[in-house]
Amino acid sequence: MADNTAFSLLKQRSIGTSGMVFQDLSDLAPPQSHANIARSLYIHIPFCSHKCHYCDFYSIVDRQDRQQLFTDRLVRELRAQAPYAQGQPLKSIFIGGGTPSLLAPALWKTVLTELNNLFDLSEIHAGIGEFSVENNPESVSEELANVYKAGGVNRISMGAQSFNAVHLKSLDRIHNPAKVPLAIDIFQRAGIKRVSLDLIFAVPGQTIEQWDTDLRTALDLPIEHLSAYGLTYEPGTAMTARLSRGEFTQMPDELEAAMYLHTIKTLREYGFDRYEVSNHAKTGAECKHNMYYWTSQDWLAVGPSASGHFHGARWKNTPRLDDYLKLNENGFAPICDYEAPDDRRELMDLLMTSIRLAQGVDAKSALAQAEPLHAAEKLQLAATMCQDQGWLMDANADQWQLTDEGFLFADRVAREFIGALMID
Ligand code: SF4
Repeated sequence: MADNTAFSLLKQRSIGTSGMVFQDLSDLAPPQSHANIARSLYIHIPFCSHKCHYCDFYSIVDRQDRQQLFTDRLVRELRAQAPYAQGQPLKSIFIGGGTPSLLAPALWKTVLTELNNLFDLSEIHAGIGEFSVENNPESVSEELANVYKAGGVNRISMGAQSFNAVHLKSLDRIHNPAKVPLAIDIFQRAGIKRVSLDLIFAVPGQTIEQWDTDLRTALDLPIEHLSAYGLTYEPGTAMTARLSRGEFTQMPDELEAAMYLHTIKTLREYGFDRYEVSNHAKTGAECKHNMYYWTSQDWLAVGPSASGHFHGARWKNTPRLDDYLKLNENGFAPICDYEAPDDRRELMDLLMTSIRLAQGVDAKSALAQAEPLHAAEKLQLAATMCQDQGWLMDANADQWQLTDEGFLFADRVAREFIGALMID
């Protein structure tokens, strides 16, 4: 997530509203009705074949010897969390990482069998629900694709990043770009038709023509969804260290903005609409799972560093694999962060993510939620200011939606909304 302002401003580590130290999900009130249960699940598989220079996700260089132990623990944690879905059909599962496709096919079978036994995946098997897995082109095989298909996986997210060998090297990605279409073909022959690609722009030295070639190469493939992210220099990454050593210069903001606008225009030519700042899809092919995140619905989360949201509380599992493997006696993982239910923080989180969507923020609902916090007037003023800046279409409309220019300033608009909700 690009901007964690609300999270860091309101962090309450480990202490709930009752003053009780949070141990695990069982400390939260059990679901009272089917309208209020988790219908989505995120699973984090932390293994990677090496660490890419720009990456700040939690991943460890693959050690085959730990995959079995990790899978045993993951299954135990799934068993602990499954009751929180109350037997209702899951609407989405997303397995990310790391590089999930590095997990051995036999262990994938174990995880998928367990998922099918523990949860109701009927909507997923019927194609109404979504089951996505992240993959790297190098670790895809026919065997793996067939295991996915049998287990209910119906959508693939592939980390292509670039088709230019020089830029891939600059990002320290080790895959061969020619493997991307081959990997897509393997999945589609196995019957998994829905494919999303990830690309990165604003790579040092990249020209707009080279970015255009990357985009069109991706769009000539049989994909329905594309995520295009501007390169960010996260603290502690090798890329940021190389930048500070002067090994290259960062792309000027104007060129990065021109690349972003070029992305929108080119994708529209191919029938892809921007439905979130960095995400584009053909009609009906939006990532449902991410939409659940961005509209603050509940989801369960399993695996090291996985973050969940349930009954207004947010928590994050410990990222270190050694710590994660020490599940408690109930099968829950140690957590490194917990935020108790809090109406103000919840509204901040919702505004921060939903303003990035093309559908925008439900203004009436946001103002109604701000009212008891004595912040509705300030929130309306912030919206009006954003309209005056040319970032918001209409501050008096039912939906607060970004203008084309506003999409370039989405983080700034989110900060204005969050500022309006801060206690003076
Ligand atoms: S493959 Fe993905 S998760 Fe793994 S190091 Fe590279 S960017 Fe990070």
